[in-house]
Amino acid sequence: MVALDGPSGTGKTTVARKLADRLSAGYLDTGAMYRVVTLAVLRAGGDPADGARVATIAGGTSFGIGTSPDVQSVTLAGEDVTAAIRGNDINHAVSAVSAVPAVRALLVARQRKIVGEVLAEVGGIVVEGRDIGTVVAPDAPLKVYLTAAADVRAARRSAQDSAAGRETNHADALASVDRRDRLDSTRVTSPLRPADDAVHMDTSELSIDQVIIALAELASQRGMLSDRAAEVTR
Ligand code: C5P
Repeated sequence: MVALDGPSGTGKTTVARKLADRLSAGYLDTGAMYRVVTLAVLRAGGDPADGARVATIAGGTSFGIGTSPDVQSVTLAGEDVTAAIRGNDINHAVSAVSAVPAVRALLVARQRKIVGEVLAEVGGIVVEGRDIGTVVAPDAPLKVYLTAAADVRAARRSAQDSAAGRETNHADALASVDRRDRLDSTRVTSPLRPADDAVHMDTSELSIDQVIIALAELASQRGMLSDRAAEVTR
């Protein structure tokens, strides 16, 4: 298992999916789980700052999440919300929802269950988030903490948004990324921070391929390359 943590715009999602492909492993986007609960809160007319209400809505939310690195799929009560959870309304509210301890307890339990199932079925998984190496899977054999300069992260977020057809500008993206990271790193329950034994990688000046090559090498050193992936790499 690979635990991949770090703030937004560091390339985590792209890196996690490509690495999972390379390792013939499953993939879990835990951010998508906080996002789908946030969508449920907003749709129910809940105030993201009202922890008790958020906890109640989260407890009654039925969602699904795919674990294939090739296709992202998130459903809310059977409806495909894969695109809807990436909107600006969700970006703005998700940090408040994810700071609620009951939400974290619920989702961390679900994440551990999914990880166990995928490990049993596929043999490996790359999990991305904010607290994977510190809380969800502190025993993961490889923990990675990705960082990048704020400017670079904002530029990546703008590029993602415009590729998805959403309105964007650099100053707004920078403010949004900054705000979310500040809230995520200062919350009381499981704040964003690297595990003590995480490998740190600054991706500001690196291409995705360079990051993947470095991480695949680390995974290989820790015995995590599948037979098929090992053949491809040799
Ligand atoms: O990774 P992504 O940007 O989609 O995450 C959205 C939000 O979900 C983060 O800003 C954070 O508030 C929350 N999150 C979290 N713990 C995780 C993953 C995401 O609190 N493991």
